[in-house]
Amino acid sequence: MTIHLPLFINGELVKSSSSKNIEVLNPATQEILCHVPCATENEIEVSVQSALHAFEQWKETPPPERSRLMMRYQALLKEHQEELAEILSQENGKTLEDARGDVWRGIEVVEQAANITPLLMGETVENVARGIDAYSYTQALGVCTGITPFNFPAMIPLWMFPMAIACGNTFILKPSEQDPMTANRLAELFSEAGAPPGLLQIIHGEKEQVDALLVHPDIKAVSFVGSVPVGQYIYKTGTDNLKRVQAFAGAKNHMVVMPDANKSKTIDGLVGSAVGAAGQRCMAISVAIFVGDSSEWINELKEKMAVVKPGPWDSESSGYGPIISHAAKERILDLIKIGREEATCLLDGSDCEVEGYPDGNWIGPTLFADVKTESTIYKTEIFGPVLICMSVDSIEEAIQLINDNPFGNGTSIFTSSGHSARKFRHEIQVGQVGINVPIPVPLPFFSFTGWKQSFYGDLHAYGKQAVRFYTETKTVTERWFDDEESSETNLTIDLK
Ligand code: NAD
Repeated sequence: MTIHLPLFINGELVKSSSSKNIEVLNPATQEILCHVPCATENEIEVSVQSALHAFEQWKETPPPERSRLMMRYQALLKEHQEELAEILSQENGKTLEDARGDVWRGIEVVEQAANITPLLMGETVENVARGIDAYSYTQALGVCTGITPFNFPAMIPLWMFPMAIACGNTFILKPSEQDPMTANRLAELFSEAGAPPGLLQIIHGEKEQVDALLVHPDIKAVSFVGSVPVGQYIYKTGTDNLKRVQAFAGAKNHMVVMPDANKSKTIDGLVGSAVGAAGQRCMAISVAIFVGDSSEWINELKEKMAVVKPGPWDSESSGYGPIISHAAKERILDLIKIGREEATCLLDGSDCEVEGYPDGNWIGPTLFADVKTESTIYKTEIFGPVLICMSVDSIEEAIQLINDNPFGNGTSIFTSSGHSARKFRHEIQVGQVGINVPIPVPLPFFSFTGWKQSFYGDLHAYGKQAVRFYTETKTVTERWFDDEESSETNLTIDLK
């Protein structure tokens, strides 16, 4: 029986009347898990109106009450972590352990949202002029929207709506059409936690539905996470329509390997980061820069990578899962083919088979050495289990190479020298920096801060900056008159 995934409007799962539906496939088997509808114009309008209506009450709800909703939601998510991880694994393909991490990193943001009140506090100065005081408040914006990618179906939606809603807004989520089932379950649990109808809506679909949200006059802010071309489009279209936009985009993350690093930790870190989740993490290391003699470790790296095997989500022996779709797999295979002509291919995962899963989108670990900066495989975000190696003579050269790269999402250095680590941290032009940490994703009390083409906008995800994104500041200047006071006309803008 074909399941038609409902929308989530005004606190209820609603069957879409759309005639356009997309198949959601298990990427390990091609089994159809459900059909996801492309919401109609009318359904989008109803969801915006419901969010607008809910906002009128929600903005008046005291922040501690909003926090309590988030506390209940956090508890429910923890209780359902395993169930969510299983739904997520089936539609996304990532291993169960990785899926648990995906849900957990989202739960941590809900914890931050539950503690939001101190971050909403304004500022006060007494006596800005004689007898006049000034202070500021933060106030919610209204209806916000979020457009999310396939690779973290729990964590990334949870970066967005809990923070926006805890700030007093209402939210419309458009999850990836490739793995939309997790989002529906997140919404149901939110409702079960006591969220009033209309706080969170889920609109399914693709470009057409995103476009309707981007131009809608009642939507005040847009959060996006996904690829560079779409991120640029969302940023331009959203800001053209005079909305606040934050767009997190693609990446090419480098790890610098110094000759004084701990060899086994470095190699383990590189393998896990490059092929974990089939390389489909925005913070995956996809370029290793070996400095000086450390390039002698490439053979050992190859041996460790070669033993990692992809497989289905529910098998403990699977190192990672399939590529999200057949089309994405074909794109990666084309890039590997180009790479074979551009560089030395040490491991080629193109012909990868997994016993019992003949139809899965499998690609084995792939390793290139002697890669040049002009090559296509260096310039393109591959987003698969492919690691490319480059060699340089000094840390200065490594830093220059990374700073010249148009992306700036994540980077890492492995070294035992405090001096090299400090120099790297200080000089590198990338948002997330790891020192002997291969995937340095910050916890939610920090901001997530891509640089260069990895981010468009000015305020970042979660942390204090997210509160600034999802609120307006209102500054009040206040004076109270004493009836006895004499009065005079002031023709200047000075406060007297
Ligand atoms: P994508 O850009 O293809 O899709 C992201 C979202 O945009 C989806 O919801 C999709 O339906 C929508 N979309 C796609 N094409 C559109 C169009 N033409 N107009 C309007 N909306 C459109 O990204 P993806 O393949 O789902 O995700 C992988 C990408 O996301 C990678 O590039 C990865 O680096 C990036 N990513 C970045 C971060 C970060 O924090 N910087 C985090 C995760 C993923």
